[in-house]
Amino acid sequence: MRISAKKMLAIVWASPWSCLGLLLGLIAILTGGGLQWRHGVLEFHGGILRPLLQRVPILGGASAVTLGHTTLGRNLHDLQRCKDHECVHVAQYERWGPLFVPVYFLCSLWAWLTGRRAYRDNPFEREAYTKAPVHYHDDPSLS
Ligand SMILES: [Zn+2]
Repeated sequence: MRISAKKMLAIVWASPWSCLGLLLGLIAILTGGGLQWRHGVLEFHGGILRPLLQRVPILGGASAVTLGHTTLGRNLHDLQRCKDHECVHVAQYERWGPLFVPVYFLCSLWAWLTGRRAYRDNPFEREAYTKAPVHYHDDPSLS
């Protein structure tokens, strides 16, 4: 597999958040979780991730979260269901690198301060939901 110089720079640019994802992923594995490699993204699931993601302060918790080139999911089903949406976030990390998370939270704060929804009106989420909607109807834990 040959990686272009542009892709290599994007991987390095996003690597601070990928390192945090790797750390959380390793903890997931040590607590009974698993991992898989898909399209340049290391996906972790299960273990400590399930209770952690359930506590993310959005409606019903998060099914999956992307950190750089890692995605953390409650379980394999959630990773599969959210993979296209999370791929949009991977591309956002490749554009914004270490700035992504601070800018993401500033956007959520701005949305909330201006009377909009902090999560769904965040422009990064709007882009992800527009390009890759996530359907919740097949997940009984979110209904
Ligand atoms: Zn999202």
